[in-house]
Amino acid sequence: MTTSRSSLPALLELQAVDSRLLTRLARAKELQTSEHVAALMARRTQAIAAARELDAAVGQAQDAVQQAEATVVEIQTRIDRDTERLNAGGTSKDLMGIQHQIETLTAQRERAEEAQLQAMDHAEEVAADRERKQPLLRAADAEARAAVAERDAELARLKEEHARLTAERDRRASAITDSPLLRRYDRLRNARGGGRIAVARYENGTCGACGTRLSPADAAALEATPDTAIPQCPECSAMLVL
Ligand SMILES: [Zn+2]
Repeated sequence: MTTSRSSLPALLELQAVDSRLLTRLARAKELQTSEHVAALMARRTQAIAAARELDAAVGQAQDAVQQAEATVVEIQTRIDRDTERLNAGGTSKDLMGIQHQIETLTAQRERAEEAQLQAMDHAEEVAADRERKQPLLRAADAEARAAVAERDAELARLKEEHARLTAERDRRASAITDSPLLRRYDRLRNARGGGRIAVARYENGTCGACGTRLSPADAAALEATPDTAIPQCPECSAMLVL
C-alpha cells in the first residue's frame, strides 16, 4: 500500500499545475481590468465624436457655400429679367424705375458674391482642419482596436491554456488515491485567500514554502517524522518532501 508520504512528489506536480492555473487566471483578470485598454477605448470614443463633429462642420460649410451660390444666381436672374424689360422699352418713368431696380440688385449681387467668397474660404478652412486632424483621430481609433484585438487574442490563448491545465489537473488529482491527503492539500492551498504553497521540498534545513531555516531542534524533529506521518513545516504548516 502506498503511504501518504509517497504521494507527496505527485502532489508537488499537482501544485505546479495549480500554480500555473492561478497565474493564467490572474493574468486574465489583469487583462480584463486593464486601465491601458480602457484609456485607449476612451480616447477612441472621443476621436469618433470629434470626427463626427468635423464631418458635420464640413457639411454645414458646404451647405452655406451652396446657399450663397443660390442667392447670387437668384439675384442675377432678377437682374437679367429687369435688363430684358429695360431693353423692351417703355415710358421714361418706367425705364428709370427699372434702371434703379437693376442698380439696387447689382449692389445686392456684389454683397452676395462677397458672402459667397467668404463661405468658400470658410469651407476650405474647415476641410483643411479636418484633413489635419483626421490622421490623428484614425490613429487613436486604430491604436485602440489593436490593443483590444491583442488583449482578446491573449485572453483566448489563456482560456485554451486554462482548459488544458484544468484537464491535466484533473488527471493528476485522480491519480492520487489518498483522498484525505488531497483534502489536506486543498485546505492548505486555499487557506488565507488561497494560492498558498501547500507542499514543498525541505532542503539544506530550509522550508521550500516559507523559506524558514529550521532550528536544529525543529530540524531534528522534522527529520524524525515517522514514515506513516507527513513531515510538516513548524512555521507555515506546508507538507515537506524530505
Ligand atoms: Zn514553511
